[in-house]
Amino acid sequence: MDAASRPTIFALSSGRPPAAIAVVRLCGPRAGAALEKLIGRVPKPRQATLARVRDPASGEVIDEAITLWFPGPHSETGEDMAEVQLHGSPAVVAAVFEALRTFEGCRPAEAGEFTRRAFENGRLDLTAIEGLADLIAAETPAQRRQGFRQLKGLIGDRAEAWRQHIIAALALIEARIDFSDEADVPEDLLGPALRSAKELRDEIAGALAKSSRGERLRDGFAVAITGPPNAGKSTLLNRLAQRDAAIVSAHPGTTRDAIEVHLNLGGYPVTLIDTAGIRDSADPVEQEGIRRARERVAMADLVLWLTDASADSAEAGGEVAENLSAADVWVLRNKIDLVGDKCCARNESLSTNESKKTFLISALTGAGIEPMAATLSATVQEFFSATEAPMVTRARHRRALEETISALDRALAHGPSGSEELVAEDLRSAATTLGRLTGRVDVEDLLDVIFRDFCIGK
Ligand code: GDP
Repeated sequence: MDAASRPTIFALSSGRPPAAIAVVRLCGPRAGAALEKLIGRVPKPRQATLARVRDPASGEVIDEAITLWFPGPHSETGEDMAEVQLHGSPAVVAAVFEALRTFEGCRPAEAGEFTRRAFENGRLDLTAIEGLADLIAAETPAQRRQGFRQLKGLIGDRAEAWRQHIIAALALIEARIDFSDEADVPEDLLGPALRSAKELRDEIAGALAKSSRGERLRDGFAVAITGPPNAGKSTLLNRLAQRDAAIVSAHPGTTRDAIEVHLNLGGYPVTLIDTAGIRDSADPVEQEGIRRARERVAMADLVLWLTDASADSAEAGGEVAENLSAADVWVLRNKIDLVGDKCCARNESLSTNESKKTFLISALTGAGIEPMAATLSATVQEFFSATEAPMVTRARHRRALEETISALDRALAHGPSGSEELVAEDLRSAATTLGRLTGRVDVEDLLDVIFRDFCIGK
């Protein structure tokens, strides 16, 4: 579609009315004309201008507003844009929308359509757009910082630099292929290209190694609460979440599905996962719950293995925890309010002998929760506070970089005396994969997935 016949889109970009202010944005070739119809003129570029907004059909004043005019290409989307800051009432917004709808070539925007135009016009690459989505969704300061860094090109700029590097190596080889008939082309051209590919490969692998922290900052440090039924898992979750997030029941096997609660612990996101009671069961529904619980536990960063200190069965001990494959397991001996000093003394001596961290708690009364929560907070802090900002924040990035590494590995495997054509092909494939990461090459299929998460007006 040529630029002039592209629809001009409009949307409410601020929150739901009623609100103090409602920001209506327009973008497209008729944005200037539409603004002129509403306020009688086009204000000076990028200068806040007070103006009466009128219904062009009746001439009636709808509101008085601050208006802004951002002519393309130096606007957020790269196209002409206008912004009208109205009083945030439902009636004001409705009247302005009604007028806009009657303007030729204007229509309401779809979710994420402004950002999509910014992408199509080359103002933002895909990783920046993902960063923007993360910034908008950020709930903790650390998530906010990561979203902003990514919006500003932390991963996009680096991936593009890598791609340019590969293209340069590729050019070396292609030159050799093209001039191979000529006698005085230096023999060893593959060597420098492969050395460059090797350096790049190691650099990308280094960035990948730090990836889990970046992804966790989006999804939260995952803490699974598991243990036998009735040990008090839901009670503990509620205590930690300080609200009724899970159903507490005195009947075994009631918490069948994993329940997630998102916490902000010292500025870092933590996802608490309450799992169905892990135990043998004949009930197929319960078995499914148990299977899912094991899956969540296997992927968790930390497992809190909860036992009932007042039940003196073998099950209450730490041995079941041994079967868990998670990175770290803490044993929490719960219900200490039900047992006397005798048990606690026994548990304390136990905890010094065990390699696993052990805490004595009562999820019901709150006894012992404070020191356990403080240790948890410190652990999460430590996990997230490595010095360098993680570059990879999504599984999509990780996959793209892994594919790039394997393509580079294939190129390297040919060796300096290998076939130039084959090395070139593998390098080309590495460059293409990086191009997909930033959205420079064939990403149509990805776009819908990425923009689906956006709100209208963004
Ligand atoms: P889950 O099956 O592991 O999720 O266990 P629940 O959290 O549903 O708790 C099972 C029962 O144990 C409920 O009746 C809770 O009130 C009780 N309970 C949980 N924690 C404690 C505790 O620290 N002390 C006592 N006395 N009871 C508890």
